[in-house]
Amino acid sequence: MSAVIRPKSEYHRITSERMNRYLKTPTWSLRQKLALACRILADEGHESALAGQITGRGDKPRTYWMLSFGLWFDEAQASNIVLVDDDLNLLEGEGMVNPSNRFHLWIYRHRPDVNAIIHTHPPYCSALSVLGEELAVSHMDTAMLYEDVAFLPEWPGVPIGDEEGEIITKAIGTKRSILLAHHGQLAACSNIEEATIMAIFIERAARMHLMARAIGPIRPIRPEHAREAHDYRLKPKAVGATFHYFARRVLRQGEEALE
Ligand SMILES: [Zn+2]
Repeated sequence: MSAVIRPKSEYHRITSERMNRYLKTPTWSLRQKLALACRILADEGHESALAGQITGRGDKPRTYWMLSFGLWFDEAQASNIVLVDDDLNLLEGEGMVNPSNRFHLWIYRHRPDVNAIIHTHPPYCSALSVLGEELAVSHMDTAMLYEDVAFLPEWPGVPIGDEEGEIITKAIGTKRSILLAHHGQLAACSNIEEATIMAIFIERAARMHLMARAIGPIRPIRPEHAREAHDYRLKPKAVGATFHYFARRVLRQGEEALE
């Protein structure tokens, strides 16, 4: 008996259909998802003292949710995510607004497609960022970054002013992520789930880059395969299921994030 052979597009169609049928994700509020994202990234080693911010666009125009300043990522709860306006004035919740979030506002103003931003200084992105090398995306697991990661080769200084916001916004262009020289990484995506996945995997890609480069040159992957894998990893259902996968580990430690 001969095996059934179908075109690959048919398998993509079947997989999408099954993802829609089987991959159910809980209906968390945006504040709960932001708190979960903070804790997921803490778990992934993205903590670096008071650096790093996770923000999401609010329902009302020019409003944004963010973790209040001074908290560890793993202290995030839905109740300590605060709402601010587009000049970082507190609108809802209690706590200090993170002054470093000003550059997020620049990105939101220029990218109506962006609804969530994650900026962190994780160890491998930080190490790669001081070499002056662009991130090499050369593995299936990190293909969601293929042609979707920009590079800012010069550090414009601590991003609490407007100038840094303009520079980073220009450098990221229409991409979902960016490696910032002498600084860290940033993901600017259509929702918090996608931004979380991009932030997790840019750090894993940077780790892979540094491990591989320590031994020899990195071989590129074929663009058509990489583009296919990029789109596959970023299917909305796949992104939702991956976020849920990481969230479950956080929730096994306790459910405070949701409170
Ligand atoms: Zn930073």
